Amino acid sequence: MTINRSKVVIVGAGLVGSSTAFSLITQGVCDEVMIIDINKDKARGEVMDLNHCIEYLNRNVRVTEGDYKDCGDADIVAITAGAPPRPGQSRLDTLELSAKIAESIVKPIMESGFRGHFIVVSNPVDIIAHYVYRLSGLPKNQVIGTGTAMDSARLKYFIGEIFHIDPRSVQGYTMGEHGDSQMCPWSHVTVGGKRIKDILEDNPQYASINLDEIVTRVAKVGFEILQVKGTTCYGIATTAAGIIKAILNDENKIIPVSTLLEGEFGESDVFCGVPAILNRSGVQDVVEVHLSEEEKLKFKQSVHVIREYTNRLYDK
Ligand code: NAD
Repeated sequence: MTINRSKVVIVGAGLVGSSTAFSLITQGVCDEVMIIDINKDKARGEVMDLNHCIEYLNRNVRVTEGDYKDCGDADIVAITAGAPPRPGQSRLDTLELSAKIAESIVKPIMESGFRGHFIVVSNPVDIIAHYVYRLSGLPKNQVIGTGTAMDSARLKYFIGEIFHIDPRSVQGYTMGEHGDSQMCPWSHVTVGGKRIKDILEDNPQYASINLDEIVTRVAKVGFEILQVKGTTCYGIATTAAGIIKAILNDENKIIPVSTLLEGEFGESDVFCGVPAILNRSGVQDVVEVHLSEEEKLKFKQSVHVIREYTNRLYDK
C-alpha cells in the first residue's frame, strides 16, 4: 500500500511566502511545506522559525528548506517571489522584474520533473500566470493565478460591514484584473440569497450606498494598507492557502482565480479572474455567469488592460 504525502513548495520566503507557509501549517493543509528563496539565509530562518510552531499545531507538518531540484515530487508550487510595488508604483509597474524572476524559477522547476500545479501569487498576477503557463508547458488547468480571489474576500468583508453580516454569508466576487480595472457583476451579488440591488431598494437607510465606490475601495485598499504597514500579507496568504486546500482536498470549491480563458465570456488567450471550480485537477471549469450589457463592457475593459500588458511582455 502506498500512502502519498502532500507536498507544497513555496518559492519566495518574503512576507507573502512566509505568511502562506504559516497559514498552511496552522491549518494543517498538507504534509510538507518546502521553502525556496534566492536569499538562502532568509529561507533557512523562516524554516527554523516555522518548525518551532509544531508543538502547538494540530499536526506535525514537515517544514523544510529546499532547492529547485527537490520540486519533482511536489503537488503544488506557489510562486510568491517578486518585487512588491514601491510607493507610487502600480502592480503593473513591477511586470518586467517579476517576469525575469518567474523565468529563473519555472525553468529549473520543470527540469526537476515537476508536473503538479503552479499557484502564481506574484504581481502583476494575471500576466505572470500567463507567463508561467507558457514557460512551463503545463496544461492550462494546472496554472492558476490568485487573481481576484483576495479582492473578492475584501468585497465580501466590506459588504458584510455595511449590513452587519458575516462576510461568509455574502455571495459575490470581483472579476477581471487583480488591479484597478477589476469589476463586480453586481447582478450576482447576494446576501443570504437576497440580491444586493433588492436589499438597497427595500431598505431606504441604504439608499446612499454607491456600489461603484465599493469596487473602487476593493481595488485600492491594498495600497491603503501598504501605506500604513508597508505590506499586505495575511489576506493574500490565507487566500493562497485556501486555493491550495481546495486543490489538495479535491473540494470542488468555487473561487474567483486567474485562469486561461478560451472562449469563456467571449475572451481568449488571456489569464484573468473569473469564478472557477477548483479540485484535484486544478481549474476543473469556469463558471460562466450571465453578465448584463453594462457588466460585459466593464469586464471587457478590464481584460483589455491585462491583454495590453501581456502583449507588451511578449513583444519585448
Ligand atoms: P518580499 O520582498 O517580502 O519578498 C519577496 C521574496 O522573493 C524575497 O524573500 C526575495 O529574496 C525573493 N526572491 C526575489 N527574487 C527571487 C528569485 N529569483 N528566486 C527566488 N526568490 C526570489 O515581497 P512580498 O511582500 O512577499 O511580495 C511578493 C510578491 O507577492 C510581489 O510580487 C507582490 O506584488 C505579490 N503580492 C501579490 C498579491 C496578490 O493578491 N496576488 C498580494 C500581495 C503581494
